Amino acid sequence: MCKWPVALVTGGGSGLGKAIVERFLAEGAKVAILDRSEERVQEVVAMFGGKVVGTSGDVRSMADNKAAVARCVEAFGKIDTLVGNAGVWDYNASIAGTSEEKLAEAIDELVGINLKGYILAAKAALPELYKTKGNAIFTVSNAGFYPGGGGVLYTASKHGVVGMIKQLAHEWAPHIRVNGVAPGGIGGISRGFPSLSQEGIRFSNLPLDDLMKQMLPLEKAFYASEYTGGYVFFANRKDNGPATGSVLNFDGGIGMRGF
Ligand code: NAD
Repeated sequence: MCKWPVALVTGGGSGLGKAIVERFLAEGAKVAILDRSEERVQEVVAMFGGKVVGTSGDVRSMADNKAAVARCVEAFGKIDTLVGNAGVWDYNASIAGTSEEKLAEAIDELVGINLKGYILAAKAALPELYKTKGNAIFTVSNAGFYPGGGGVLYTASKHGVVGMIKQLAHEWAPHIRVNGVAPGGIGGISRGFPSLSQEGIRFSNLPLDDLMKQMLPLEKAFYASEYTGGYVFFANRKDNGPATGSVLNFDGGIGMRGF
């Protein structure tokens, strides 16, 4: 059993975030989510009854992040763990192939969600995390370390997240631990973002699962639930008290292919 009974998860309405919610509940936590999809928020809240509360809102908004923190505290009294996770992928969009008109808008949207959204969530949760001497965990990606897991926008945003984790760990020590989990490709999910009109675009002719089997040294596709142990590890004070400023490469060994 973990020692972190209350967590707030951004992007908890689908994909990896929803899997983290399910795993944390299984470990005995109570969970609040913030997601921009009202429909997904309602679905997850209905699915888990009184153990999950939700706020629909945009992680790029300070007010929405503060509303999610307030909802969590109102329902469960505190926050032990913040999981910053809401993010969007750029479908490997190249700078060369993106029109001048779209590029600035796309940077604002992607960096706004993937990086600014994490920083605002951290700012909003800080007073509560300080009270509990809690911790924050942010979803990175293999793209936080290596090229080829996205285009320049996504890769830059995820490298930025690694820097943010380190600086936040430095700033918040000794009170609050800050760590990251860097998953590889997640079978079955991945969505684009509106400014590059990516809905329905395919990244590869191969299904993502087959592509991952080809790319990864472990020759296997991994699913969202298989990544959730990393979050449990960092949330649990008992087992990893010394961990802060760490990012767990949890990606099927994507950088270990060699030549
Ligand atoms: P997903 O699209 O399945 O889920 C993301 C959730 O975030 C959605 O419910 C969406 O509504 C929400 N969201 C998006 N923008 C938001 C905003 N502005 N405000 C509030 N909520 C917002 O995506 P996913 O694949 O589960 O991605 C989750 C995290 O995992 C992201 O940080 C992503 O970069 C990272 N990641 C994903 C993969 C992958 O292959 N899917 C690989 C490595 C890392």
